[in-house]
Order: sequence, then structure tokens, then C-alpha cells
Amino acid sequence: MGFVNTVLGKVKVEDLGCTLVHEHLLLRSETVAIQFPHLYDEEEIYQKAVKGVQAVKAQGVKTICDPTVVGMGRDVRFLEKVSQETGVQIITATGIYSFTEIPMHFQNRDIDYMTDAFIYDIEVGIQNTPIKAGFLKCAADAPGITPDLDKVFRAIARAQKHTGVPIMTHSHPASGNGLKQLEIFKEEGVNPNSIMIGHTGDSDDLDYIKQILDSGVYIGADRFGQPPLEYEKRHSTLLELLNQGYANRIFLSQDYCCNIDWYTDEQVNQLVPNWSIEFLIDEVIPKLRKEGATEEQIHTMMYENVQNWFQGK
Ligand SMILES: [Zn+2]
Repeated sequence: MGFVNTVLGKVKVEDLGCTLVHEHLLLRSETVAIQFPHLYDEEEIYQKAVKGVQAVKAQGVKTICDPTVVGMGRDVRFLEKVSQETGVQIITATGIYSFTEIPMHFQNRDIDYMTDAFIYDIEVGIQNTPIKAGFLKCAADAPGITPDLDKVFRAIARAQKHTGVPIMTHSHPASGNGLKQLEIFKEEGVNPNSIMIGHTGDSDDLDYIKQILDSGVYIGADRFGQPPLEYEKRHSTLLELLNQGYANRIFLSQDYCCNIDWYTDEQVNQLVPNWSIEFLIDEVIPKLRKEGATEEQIHTMMYENVQNWFQGK
């Protein structure tokens, strides 16, 4: 597959350019946003997203993958508008984000029913639009792979095999569940080159990280600027992995949210002081260079891996 679905249509993988693989333009509590729309200032929200995307465009970013899926307030018309205004390519996803249960609708239906819903988003369009998903997203955190999540992971795996688009996960390295995610994908027969175990960079446990890498998948060092792992440790772990030859398996990103309604602004400032969508390119990459990462390694992580991931290579 040499093409990828963006919110404005298909693009060639070679045209993705410098890519931030995990950032959110608008993330919110879906039920609250639908039921209490008066709580939101839509114009302010839109301007924040445009400002964030323009800031990284000025840094040379050409594409953003936004893994905001069901359960996070996914709004593809919003992404389309931001992409049109900024000229930055945005790739949206399909899948379910929950740490425990899934909607009753899916609880009472089988795995393949959910698979078909994901395939529809990729092949036909999302939310009654012609905007198609470019990749699949699923999540498991501290509670582990609950029975509901097992169903999601298998539906995601089957949709991957049917469509060929890649999978990005949210994993919780502290409980080691990246490996459990891999077990399910393996059972379902997914090509490891189409899998990214996200948030693996939240750990500095090299044994754990290398167990994941050595299964042939990609990992996300995708939360620069965020807890739970402090910046220096994220940095030194990444440098060690680069030294060991893993540049072609690692994605750098920030999991930054231009908008997030889970917390008040004060809480966000407390949780992630100086949170910025420009941090990776302004701070992290220059520091990597200074400490010995080569231009080739940086280019591989920011330009090439995304092309290969989308092609299952
Ligand atoms: Zn995220």
C-alpha cells in the first residue's frame, strides 16, 4: 500500500514528510461534549488547535497523526477544517479508547461486528462523512486487558488484516502490558511491522523495551514533556536504544493535546508544566544531536519510520 488516508484524502507515503505520529488536536469527554455543549467555547477550541498546528508547521512538520478515537470525542470535520486552514496533513484513526469497559452496544455483539465498524471507518468514511481513517488505535492501561478490551484488541487486529492499515496502541509499561498486547496480535496473526506499541518510552526498563522491540514491532517514545518518566530518563533510554541500533523502530512524539477537557487549565499546568507541542523539535532533537545521535538516526525516526509503518515494512 503506497497511499495513506488523510482527512483531506489519499496521499503517497513518500509525501508524508516530517511526521509527529501521536498528537491530539481536540480530546474531550465525548458524552459531556454531546450532552452539555454549552460548556465549550468552540471558537476558542478551534483557534487553539490551529495555533498548535501552525507552530509545528513552522518547525518543518508536514504531517500529524491524531489518534483521537471513540471515547475521546473524535471529530473528523474539526480535523478537516484545521488541515484545510493550516495546510498540514492530518491522519485520523478508528478504534476505541477505554481502560476498562466498552459501550453496551458492543458488549452485546461479537468481535467481528466491531471489526466491521472499524473497517467501515477505513473504507467508507467516519461519522457519515467521506473522511477515512488512516490507522487503528486501541488502549490498555493499569487495569490490564479486561475482557472488553480483549474484544477490542482482537477486532482491531482483524480490521488491520482486512485493510492493511497499521495499529497504534496505548500501553502501560509499568504493568508490562505492551507484551500482552503483542500476544493478542500474534494470536490474531498481525504483521509485526504494522504494529506500534505506544508509550513504551514511559519506561526506562531496557529489558522490557527490548523484548517488545525484538518481536519486530515499532515503539513510541511518544510522550516527551510528560510524566510519568522524567525527561532526562526518557532521553538517556532513547540514546541507549539508538546506540544499540533501534532507530528504525522508534517513533518520537509528545502526545500533546491542543485541547483537553479532562482537566481544568490549572490542573493541566500543574500536571504538565510548560507543556508544548514544539518541545520535541525545539528541545529534544537538538539535545539528541548534541549527545551523539546522528542526522541519519533522526531522519529515520522523523521521516522514514512512518512510511514503513504505513506500508507494513
Ligand atoms: Zn494520546
